[in-house]
Amino acid sequence: MVKAVVGANWGDEGKGKITDMLAQEADIIVRFQGGANAGHTIVNDYGKFALHTLPSGVFYNHTTSVIGNGVALNIPVFFKEYNEVIERGVPAPKIMISDRAQIVMPYHILFDQYEEERLGGKSFGSTKSGIAPFYSDKYAKIGFQVNELFHDDALKEKVERVVATKNVLLEHLYHKPLLDPDEIYAELMKYKEMVAPYVGDVSLFLWNAIKDGKQILLEGQLGSLKDPDHGIYPMVTSSSTLAAYGAIGAGIPPYEIKQVITVCKAYSSAVGAGAFVSEIFGEEADELRRRGGDGGEYGATTGRPRRMGWFDCVASKYGCRMQGTTDVAFTVLDVLGYLDEIPVCTGYEIDGKVTTEFPTTGLLEKAKPVLEVLPGWKTDIRGIKNYEDLPENCRKYVEFVEKQIGFPITMISNGPGRNDIIYRNK
Ligand code: GDP
Repeated sequence: MVKAVVGANWGDEGKGKITDMLAQEADIIVRFQGGANAGHTIVNDYGKFALHTLPSGVFYNHTTSVIGNGVALNIPVFFKEYNEVIERGVPAPKIMISDRAQIVMPYHILFDQYEEERLGGKSFGSTKSGIAPFYSDKYAKIGFQVNELFHDDALKEKVERVVATKNVLLEHLYHKPLLDPDEIYAELMKYKEMVAPYVGDVSLFLWNAIKDGKQILLEGQLGSLKDPDHGIYPMVTSSSTLAAYGAIGAGIPPYEIKQVITVCKAYSSAVGAGAFVSEIFGEEADELRRRGGDGGEYGATTGRPRRMGWFDCVASKYGCRMQGTTDVAFTVLDVLGYLDEIPVCTGYEIDGKVTTEFPTTGLLEKAKPVLEVLPGWKTDIRGIKNYEDLPENCRKYVEFVEKQIGFPITMISNGPGRNDIIYRNK
């Protein structure tokens, strides 16, 4: 049985925590898209970890952690994280890296920085992890798959060919130092040594695992609104963030994904540029940011303060629909316990008309939030295990959101830890 854990919004919804929790019952956890540009924060018995490329299942002995073909694999970052996890007392995780995953090249990171510099104030707010140049090269068919590391002569020739085109851009567009193909090749030989013990045919491994009745979790990065097709283009990421892409980025049949658990945060936060209709500012935002998540809403990769906002029913309804949601995991609800009243965005006013359907980017930029204010519950709900034991106003908040988004909230997260979860039978 295959389940996907994905985000409904702009990312940072708490997918890492939900994956870590569900991984207790999983055999295999697969990353199927994205790269080291976003992070998951996980708090468990070993401590607090910010993972960028390792799947969130690495903390369990019984699981295999898989890097699917859809991932942008930064090999040094991957092994740095792998070694750090082991140094902090986690048993060496079993890992498998797809022979079809592509490699983030050292120059992808450079090009990301140079392009942001060139764009100046008009930049996309990239984390400069090389993700956009990486996926551009993948689709321009000048990327490097992991299996190519093992064909030395062909690799050398391809490196020379690709570097020649990169150098034209470096010289004439960016006015930066040129690349040396021999250095790149030598770097790739180091990468080869690092990955060699772990490389395999992931789609075949997963096919057999499905036949054997294993439990597989697909772990998404970012959320629906950052999807390059269905998100707030162009302020999106470069690989699909949707559960459907899990089939491609892991190499499994689409009909095998039986459950799509969409993680939705009880308020909104976003990083990077782009329209954010329910955004709040000033002291109101600062307070939510300070109290948010586990120790504040700051980027796991960059440490940047996140933009904050009220829960957005329009964006979340759309985000859940695009994911093909079967279950919503509603997270970080405990954080709202300090508020007397909690505004919720229930509609967008665009050119004088109110809509509850999420529009394309040009219209989104004109949207003003329609807010409805719900009463707060003014208590700490951490530690509560049963839905019925939540304060009435808290349950009303959950049920209001559920009605607005139209998908069942079956899990409520009321703290960062693995066991801070309330299941609701729907
Ligand atoms: P991800 O990329 O979707 O995994 O999101 P993040 O890593 O940004 O996770 C959000 C933050 O919220 C992390 O610091 C988590 O430890 C924390 N977190 C997750 N669920 C909860 C929750 O229910 N309550 C609180 N207070 N923090 C949570």
